[in-house]
Amino acid sequence: MNKLDVFKAWGKILTGGYPSMSIEITRECPLRCPGCYAYEPEHLQGNGLLRELADFKGDNLIERVLDLVKEHKPLHLSIVGGEPLVRFRELDILLPKLSEMGVAVQLVTSAVREIPKAWNKIKGLYIVVSIDGLQPEHDARRKPATYERILRNIQGQSITVHCTVTSQTAVREGYYEEFLGFWSARPEVKKIWISLFTPQIGAVAEEILLPDVREKLLDELAVLRKQFPKLVMPNAVLKGYQKPPSSPDDCIFARTTLNLTADLTSRVTPCQFGGTPDCSQCGCIASAGLAAVGDWKLFNILPLRSIYNASDKIGKTIGNGKNGHEIKADPKLQNGSA
Ligand code: SF4
Ligand code: SF4
Repeated sequence: MNKLDVFKAWGKILTGGYPSMSIEITRECPLRCPGCYAYEPEHLQGNGLLRELADFKGDNLIERVLDLVKEHKPLHLSIVGGEPLVRFRELDILLPKLSEMGVAVQLVTSAVREIPKAWNKIKGLYIVVSIDGLQPEHDARRKPATYERILRNIQGQSITVHCTVTSQTAVREGYYEEFLGFWSARPEVKKIWISLFTPQIGAVAEEILLPDVREKLLDELAVLRKQFPKLVMPNAVLKGYQKPPSSPDDCIFARTTLNLTADLTSRVTPCQFGGTPDCSQCGCIASAGLAAVGDWKLFNILPLRSIYNASDKIGKTIGNGKNGHEIKADPKLQNGSA
C-alpha cells in the first residue's frame, strides 16, 4: 500500500465505508487442512459451521457479489473460501467484470485445479496460492492440492506464493531457505509472502510458534530476504510481526476490512479468522503491513493511527447499520482452538 492508497482508503473510512472487503465465496473445499480456521466452530462465532451455510452458485452468485461490490465500493476485494476455484465457472464471468469496475481483486486459492490461462490477462487480478512448506509437509497437510498439482495448475500464470509458517517447520534448520530457493526459481512466481500461524485465544495446537521460535524465524527471514528478492518482507512487516496489535480494536486491518461469509450476508468478526483470535500472536501479513502504516506520521507530527481512529469514529457514526449482519461473539467460545 502506498501513500496515495492510504489517502483513498481514508476517504472510504470517513464516509463510514470499508476500503477493503473479503468474501468467502463458497462454503465448499475439497481439502481438509489441519489448523484451517474457516471450518472451526469458532469461525462463525457459534452460529454454525461454514460447511452448513447456504451458499450460492451460478448467475445468482455472480449477481449477488456484483451487488455487494456496487453497494460497498471497496478499493480492494479478497476472494477466499472454502476453495474459490470450486466456483471457477462463476469466477470466469465475475473476475473480468470486477476488473472493469476498477476493483483490485486478490484471489486466494490452493490451486487444486487448473487456474484458467485467460485470468493472467485480467487487469488488477492478483492470484495468491497457498503453499505451506516443502513438498513432504505441504502434501501431507494440503492433499489433494499437492506440489505436483500446483506446479501443473499454475503453468503460464503470474502468482504470489503465500506460506503460513507452523511450529513444526519453523524449528527445522534451513527449512525456509530451501523453501524460498524452490519457489523463487519458478518463473510463475512473482512474489513470496510469509505469514505465521495465528491461534485463537487459549488454543493449544502443534502449529503454534513459541515466542523464541518466532523471534528466531523473523531474524532468519530478515537475512534471507537479501538472498531471495521475491520474498516480500520489508522492515515494516517484520516490525508488525515483532509487535502485533494488542487487540482487534488496535488492528487497522481488521477495522478497515468488511469480511462476509458464504451466505454473503453474515459478517466474520473481528477479522478474517473469526472467533477470538490471539492478536498477541498474530501472524497475518496484511495486519503486520497495516500496523506499520498506522505508525506513519503525517507532517512528521501525528501518527496516522490517531487520525484513523478519529476518522473511523466519524465514519462509523455516518455509516451505522449499512454494513451487513454482524455475527456476535459467543462468550462460551473464548477458548476455542484454530
Ligand atoms: S484450502 Fe483453505 S479453506 Fe480449504 S481446508 Fe485448506 S485452509 Fe481451509
Ligand atoms: S488480523 Fe491479527 S491482529 Fe488483527 S484482529 Fe485478527 S488476529 Fe488480531
